[in-house]
Amino acid sequence: MRPSILDPLFASATTLSGVGPKLGKVLDRFLGDEMRPARVIDLLFHLPTGAVDRRPSPSIAEAPIGDIATFAARVSEHRPAPAGKKAPYRIIVEDETGDVTLVFFHADSRHLAQTLPVGAYRIISGKLELWEGMRQMVHPERILDPKLAATLPAFEPVYPLTEGIGARVMMRIAQAAAERCPDMPEWQDAGFLAKSDFPSFHAAIEALHHPADRKAAEGDTVARRRIGYDELLASQIALALVRRQQKKIAGRATTGDGGLRFRIQSALPFELTEGQRKAIADIHGDMAKPERMLRLLQGDVGSGKTVVALMAMAAAAEAGRQSVLMAPTEILARQHAERLAPLAEQAGLKLALLTGREKGAGRRQVLEGLADGSIDIAVGTHALFQEGVAFHDLALAVVDEQHRFGVHQRLLLGSKGEAVDVLVMTATPIPRTLSLTWFGDMDISILSEKPAGRKPIVTRAISSERYDEVVGAIGRAVENGQQVYWVCPLVQESDTLDVAAAQERYEALREIFGDKVGLLHGQMPGREKDAAMAAFVAGQTRILVSTTVIEVGVDVPNASVMVIEHAERFGLAQLHQLRGRIGRGSAASTCLLLYKGPLGPIAEARLTIMRETEDGFRIAEEDLRLRGEGEVLGTKQSGSPDWRIARPETDGDLLAAARDDARLLIERDPHLETPRGQAIRVLLYLFERDVAIRLLRAG
Ligand code: ADP
Ligand code: MG
Repeated sequence: MRPSILDPLFASATTLSGVGPKLGKVLDRFLGDEMRPARVIDLLFHLPTGAVDRRPSPSIAEAPIGDIATFAARVSEHRPAPAGKKAPYRIIVEDETGDVTLVFFHADSRHLAQTLPVGAYRIISGKLELWEGMRQMVHPERILDPKLAATLPAFEPVYPLTEGIGARVMMRIAQAAAERCPDMPEWQDAGFLAKSDFPSFHAAIEALHHPADRKAAEGDTVARRRIGYDELLASQIALALVRRQQKKIAGRATTGDGGLRFRIQSALPFELTEGQRKAIADIHGDMAKPERMLRLLQGDVGSGKTVVALMAMAAAAEAGRQSVLMAPTEILARQHAERLAPLAEQAGLKLALLTGREKGAGRRQVLEGLADGSIDIAVGTHALFQEGVAFHDLALAVVDEQHRFGVHQRLLLGSKGEAVDVLVMTATPIPRTLSLTWFGDMDISILSEKPAGRKPIVTRAISSERYDEVVGAIGRAVENGQQVYWVCPLVQESDTLDVAAAQERYEALREIFGDKVGLLHGQMPGREKDAAMAAFVAGQTRILVSTTVIEVGVDVPNASVMVIEHAERFGLAQLHQLRGRIGRGSAASTCLLLYKGPLGPIAEARLTIMRETEDGFRIAEEDLRLRGEGEVLGTKQSGSPDWRIARPETDGDLLAAARDDARLLIERDPHLETPRGQAIRVLLYLFERDVAIRLLRAG
């Protein structure tokens, strides 16, 4: 139940005086959503983006031209439009330093006679202009009796508007909403407030809707940051509660004797990197705890996440329990299975593949093995979590390349076993500010170094007019024993056109290079895809023309050249993912970004960044900068952080503080029962994170 102190804020906006049904409908469209009308709180959090300076000038002569000016003057003359003419109605006002012509179109002369009678003194405010050397003001925004001068604020907030609501009305109703704001119990730590110089919630709302100066309305004030912090704390507490709940439901310790892991490690043809060792230790630590693991393994493309996953799955097998490794595409699932099979076999682990394509007797066999526990590791696609797939004792789910999975799949996955530990691996480097919002409920391990021996990739941007030279260059590369990816872009979010482009390029290259050229795209039947991939892995084909299906995870170390056609159409993250397919072997690698000019500024910036750096974190930050926050991971799938007040660009420090604060708070007061805990409940309702409160009751 929502604390009653919040009732005035969650009432419909139409309860504000001056908001009738008509304005109410406009507000619903503007600030509400399909499920609910606009409420007072939506106006409370509808913050100004600027302010108009209405401080009076000492005289007309000193009033700023070309800007909003406010001054006192005496009305000296009315000049109505001559009869029958469409001219405006003019009124001259003056003081001892000069005069201003006020201009009214479609004027109501009776009304003007009342508001601006000749001889009266008035405060006038509006945009002052020079017209043929004379000062004039078209439709003053404010006309006041000097007795009421005090009612004109020095700075007037300016709000984002929508069709059907004018600036003055919006200001009036937003300020009316602010007046409804009750004195809240303080949910923030007193020491933190003092240290940060933050006002109370109420004072902050007051300051935001009644800015003391122009900066206060635009800039990063303590008032805005205070409420931004409230919002961040609410979301981090909700995450902490969900996390605690998930851990409580689960809770089985998985420990093994290390025997399988030792065998796998000795069979590896390389030494683990420091980062891999550390991640493996983190994961085993989590699995051994009687709580559910929720860990994100974040590592740039090629950083070696797969072997970390294998070591985790081996630990589960040592405890006699099962694991799944879930990949976003068939190709990847197959590749993982093929990669892992020899290592698994050497260690004595039983590994099976399950995708939508396994049918008939083969499928039945896998299902039986999963159900009776004879299969230790299942590698597959989301088919692993379909109905009819039952596990004997599932301990661990590894989700590779998480950004291709929806939240829904993440939930499904938990339903296949009672206490499934979850390891999510992502190659999309997620800027810290975002990772905290989306994955604040997860622990994070980062593989920051690449395996030793990797050579830098030389990246060049080349105009598509030089296509023939590029073909010549890849011909030489192939003669040198190298292999080449040739990537054709999405034409229009359309698979068919997409495929046609790849097909066409395939045929063109085939005329030159014959059967050294292979083709791979999303519409090929599964078996053909496998065959195309296998031929390329085996080196039978030397040039693989493909659509972006190779974007994620594909690993052919001998491929050291990549051509990306129409690179200007790709986003940065995607270019980085694609390029990560090369630079994996011992040969120096080259990435050729073919573009068709003229380039727009953003496309040009992207290509420049790609040429300058291979650092996935830097690329992700730049991507964020170029595209704005929502698109980096594809908001639709991942669920946006949904902040109303907090700003990801400037509140990164607050986000980290909120996370720490939330964790500590939930540790000390898990049921939110202390006075601060009670206030926190109000905070959760205020920012509509109250689903988390239900978890308190359930637990
Ligand atoms: P990603 O993190 O992109 O999934 P992979 O797990 O596919 O990376 O690893 C990329 C390549 O690096 C694979 O060929 C893998 O065998 C190899 N690899 C992984 N760890 C190491 C290491 N410590 N030293 C050398 N090569 C490694
Ligand atoms: Mg991978």
